[in-house]
Amino acid sequence: MRKGLSLYIHIPFCNSKCAYCSFTSFVSSDEIKLKYIEALKKEIALRGKEFSAKYEVSTIYIGGGTPSCLPPSAIKQIMQEVYKNFIVENNAEITIEVNPNSLTKEKIDEFMFAGVNRFSIGLQCASNSILHSMGRTHKVEDFIKCVNMLKDKGISNISADVILGYPRETLADISATLDLILKLDIPHISTYMLSVEDGTPLSIQINNKQTKLPDEESVIKQYTYCVSRLSEAGYERYEVSNFAKPGLKSKHNQVYWKRWNYLGLGLSAHSFLKHERFSNTSDLPAYIAYLETKNKVPVSEAKILTQQEEKEEWVMLMLRRSEGLDTEAYNAEFNENFLATRKERLFTLIKNGFLVLDTQTNHIKATDKGFLVLNKIIEQLV
Ligand code: SF4
Repeated sequence: MRKGLSLYIHIPFCNSKCAYCSFTSFVSSDEIKLKYIEALKKEIALRGKEFSAKYEVSTIYIGGGTPSCLPPSAIKQIMQEVYKNFIVENNAEITIEVNPNSLTKEKIDEFMFAGVNRFSIGLQCASNSILHSMGRTHKVEDFIKCVNMLKDKGISNISADVILGYPRETLADISATLDLILKLDIPHISTYMLSVEDGTPLSIQINNKQTKLPDEESVIKQYTYCVSRLSEAGYERYEVSNFAKPGLKSKHNQVYWKRWNYLGLGLSAHSFLKHERFSNTSDLPAYIAYLETKNKVPVSEAKILTQQEEKEEWVMLMLRRSEGLDTEAYNAEFNENFLATRKERLFTLIKNGFLVLDTQTNHIKATDKGFLVLNKIIEQLV
């Protein structure tokens, strides 16, 4: 029987660069994009030869960058190459990331016929003035139009990304953002707390005192507001940043948190298989040239995790989920009693209301209070 595998396909192009962005993405010509697609197709074929005998693909995520900014038929070609070289489950979840102003009816048709059945839209905020300061090129009206186009095509499995803690973004902005999302009946929401990365235009603006970040207390208020508002509206917070209506959690995201196998294809894409993590080069010309001339996958880093690293990942990823960390599964995986080896620390965290032990399932879970300081809790348990 074949094992399960998820694919992440990276499209490293955007129509412009957002002020806060540190992702591997470039504003490039169609010529470069087409060369990249040819290289990516070669990588898909090479990896397919290696993996298709043993693995069956259950989820695919086409992310970026902005996959919807590729020239017409590019996604169709990429997915055809996937189907040609991998065994893909009939009901596989196939997600594509799109930006509100680069999606058209024709592109939706192309993506649907390529098998895409889930759309993740970068809304970020329902304030045109904040969107402008973020360097986003879309307006709130574009987002509404984009969602309506998807619904007209019968697509309801939609996710919206929202950024919390952006300079000048207020609780009223977050409230308006959720009003819009709820009004449009979008069943999945990912909320990301802004992290300022060195070298981005935003970090330069902050260093030059042209703008400033909201204080921690305001950001916590924004997050707790999202948690209570979305819970009232029937969404489950199934991971610290992710909320879904029943039956519509992202299967692909859960693969990352559960440490199941995934294979990254494309520039800078990361993979995890068994005990190994590896990633492709993030140098675009080198990626294209390597596949073009050597017909080999340009892996730049590979690492077999030590048992200590695996334990740390377990704790870090499992505690992010509302389901929490399955202590019995941990014990079986590492031949170590999770509760006994951390008795004192767990007792203190439980006594202070940061964690709970579900005695029915033997899962350790973060409480609402715990989710606010999750990184500090994880530090104490690894
Ligand atoms: S759309 Fe996303 S990947 Fe592209 S520049 Fe903006 S934040 Fe970065």
